[in-house]
Amino acid sequence: MPERLKVVILGSTGSIGRQAVEVCARYQDRIEVVGLTAYAETVLLAKQAEALGVTHTVLSSVEGPAAVAALAKHPRADLVLNALVGAAGLESSYAALKAGKVLALANKESLVVGGELLMPLVEPGRLLPVDSEHSALFQCLRGEEAREVANLWITASGGPFRGRTRAELAAVTPAEALAHPNWKMGPKISIDSATLMNKGLEVIEAHHLFAQPYRRIQVVQHPQSRVHSLVEYVDGSFKAHLGVTDMRIPIQYALSYPERWPAIFDAAVTLDLREMGSLDFSAPDTETFGCLRLALEAGKAGGTMPCVLNAANEVAVAAFLDRRMGFLDIERVVGECLEQHECEKVQSLEQLQALDTETRARAQELV
Ligand code: MG
Repeated sequence: MPERLKVVILGSTGSIGRQAVEVCARYQDRIEVVGLTAYAETVLLAKQAEALGVTHTVLSSVEGPAAVAALAKHPRADLVLNALVGAAGLESSYAALKAGKVLALANKESLVVGGELLMPLVEPGRLLPVDSEHSALFQCLRGEEAREVANLWITASGGPFRGRTRAELAAVTPAEALAHPNWKMGPKISIDSATLMNKGLEVIEAHHLFAQPYRRIQVVQHPQSRVHSLVEYVDGSFKAHLGVTDMRIPIQYALSYPERWPAIFDAAVTLDLREMGSLDFSAPDTETFGCLRLALEAGKAGGTMPCVLNAANEVAVAAFLDRRMGFLDIERVVGECLEQHECEKVQSLEQLQALDTETRARAQELV
């Protein structure tokens, strides 16, 4: 039997984590899970550890983020799948890359906040995207030259409120915002999808991952979510990635790369092109969905601006979910935090962590 890939899954009880465990359980002949972490779901964590024969587990609500980061550099691990939520994932991404691990990244905030810090640590083929759009771009870019790329086209479903006016958005509830039409996801990313902040974070993520300037990254609205993203080349050719909206596909690709393994469900039957009907594409509405515009501005400004954008957004999303403020207040809080911030060069993990804490306090005051 060939040597199995040794994997650590950070955030194994979340939406991505649970699906990653499912893929690893199906492919136990090729993958050995050596570590799991969860925030507070002890029962599920214990179940997962038992099913996969995992001896190292961390409960971060008790043991703290340093214990998670320590597991991310476990000497036996080849690959770390970071499925943590929010800027809390940055420390572990940093630890994994520093320790020479392959990093399969579902935690986009790591790159949004610390892209300028992380990317110099990455060797070719050792940072694998799990975000569906970035997995699509990564696959479209395989075998191609970065200098021959004309544009990366990131698709956006438009979320549950596509086509609404700002007056309508002012009154939407957390329950409505959580009901994404195409993807089943955790609460934080569901709200980010409703505000289109998620798409802005994904543009910043793509800028770092694929070393492309912002002028070559475009967002296109595509409500059916069948095309997961596209790459346009200088000769006018486009390569697109299509598939069902099932996160197990990009999760598995990050684990099987550079190979492809059979899907653990019948993907071919669920996407029958003859039944698919029409696919629509249009420009996103950045006037109504101001979070997308704020994210693009913060990304282009670079330095510490995306760190502030992200920290303010995390606080604002939590406040909206707790019904402490309205949907449009998310954009207000993020916008005000960005306006008050004096942009600096990114220098260290500690600098970003301090700024994250400081911004959260400022955002809380604005809620
Ligand atoms: Mg995505």
